[in-house]
Amino acid sequence: PVRVRFAPSPTGNLHVGGARTALFNYLFARSKGGKFVLRIEDTDLERSTRESEEAVLRDLTWLGLDWDEGPGVGGDYGPYRQSERNSMYKQYAEKLLQSGQVYRCFCSDEELEKMKKDAKLKKLPPVYTGKWANATDAEVEEELAKGTPYTFRFRVPKGSLKITDLIRGEVSWNLDTLGDFVIMRSNGQPVYNFCVTVDDATMAISHVIRAEEHLPNTLRQALIYKALKFPMPHFAHVSLILAPDRSKLSKRHGATSVGQYREMGYLPEAMNNYLALLGWGDGTENEFFTLDKLVERFTIERVNKSGAVFDSTKLRWMNGQHLRARPSEEVTKLIGERWKTSGFLTVSEGPFVEELINLLKDGIDLITDADKVLSNLLSYPLHSTLQSEEAESAIQDNLPEFCASFLAAYDSGDLVGALEEGQAGWKNWVKGLGKSTKRKGKSLFMPLRLLLTGKLHGPDIGAAVVLLYQAGTTGVIAPEVS
Ligand code: GLU
Repeated sequence: PVRVRFAPSPTGNLHVGGARTALFNYLFARSKGGKFVLRIEDTDLERSTRESEEAVLRDLTWLGLDWDEGPGVGGDYGPYRQSERNSMYKQYAEKLLQSGQVYRCFCSDEELEKMKKDAKLKKLPPVYTGKWANATDAEVEEELAKGTPYTFRFRVPKGSLKITDLIRGEVSWNLDTLGDFVIMRSNGQPVYNFCVTVDDATMAISHVIRAEEHLPNTLRQALIYKALKFPMPHFAHVSLILAPDRSKLSKRHGATSVGQYREMGYLPEAMNNYLALLGWGDGTENEFFTLDKLVERFTIERVNKSGAVFDSTKLRWMNGQHLRARPSEEVTKLIGERWKTSGFLTVSEGPFVEELINLLKDGIDLITDADKVLSNLLSYPLHSTLQSEEAESAIQDNLPEFCASFLAAYDSGDLVGALEEGQAGWKNWVKGLGKSTKRKGKSLFMPLRLLLTGKLHGPDIGAAVVLLYQAGTTGVIAPEVS
């Protein structure tokens, strides 16, 4: 049976790269009718925190990547936190000691330092020389009697090791330059690679899908699998996510955590869709996928082995696609609640809010864009607009003349008077302005829109102006904004 896992280290926020790894695991499990396991890798006790674990769980839940086993849901293969599995690691380390695939190493830190230096001088790889690899029982007994601290070292076999990666094909390593590595520290703490192997094996993980940067760990883990005679899982190493300059994506490139995108108003379905396309496609032109559709179409073979560039403009566009795919009432509710909490409006629903949102929502990609459209409407930038070059080129002819007529009508209270009669009043007023300026259609509405909103594009201008006028008189818009 297919069993995969996502194994975050709770040392920070869930990064988009981690989210994509989780997503690929989730899609693989769901498409194969398998299980998706969540394991918390908190062996690094100094850097791991419960807050970070909670934040990661919250982000995964927000994305809708629900796990079948793990923290909060339990399962038959627990505990699901490495810090709670120490006795298991010890037991397997002992087993390897008994079979001779692990030996005790009594070298002090100074000795190990010196080894490295000597190797460097001789231009050899800086690896353990195997000093304690063939010690006699008597030599070991003597150190144990003295109470000398020791580590457990894994006896690396000679030759090479090969795995078949589901994404990268054959990957092989020369073992001669690896050196015997530590699997348990002198304080009894098992080392990360050892924990991961024991966990994956005892949790019956069938496929290990993780980031490319873990390939060097895979080498050590595969050796441990063999030594413990655990069946080897399938491996799939997903390529890095790159910044537009093709360097590794990092904080300096902007928002990189899932939480940041959530706060910016992104929808989880858009995040999933975009992350899936980072290195995967179903082979057709189609780019719009719901999570269910992704499950239906996903295959690990189609995951690309070259790095994928993170393009925040495309993610934004993708969000617009998903926003418009949501039922209209839902989007209205999202925006209304947002405006209410941010103090933009004094109510979150009702006919006025609905009309206002209906007016705006086709032109936005993010629900936070609605804030901008609304505040643009709220601040009639009459005079600054008159001087803008954009306005001149858009209107082209007779701008001053048009503006003069408009301002005259506006200043005389004509417009405000008309708006008291709602849409009908607005229409009449526009008709009058058209007559007096000898303009109609685009050449009338473009400058009008600019004068009223400072923008060349936006929601239906008449509807917007009427609504705003009503809002002003009924006090629905919070006073500090209007
Ligand atoms: N805990 C590791 C990380 O957060 C993942 C290890 C793995 O997937 O094997 O990067």
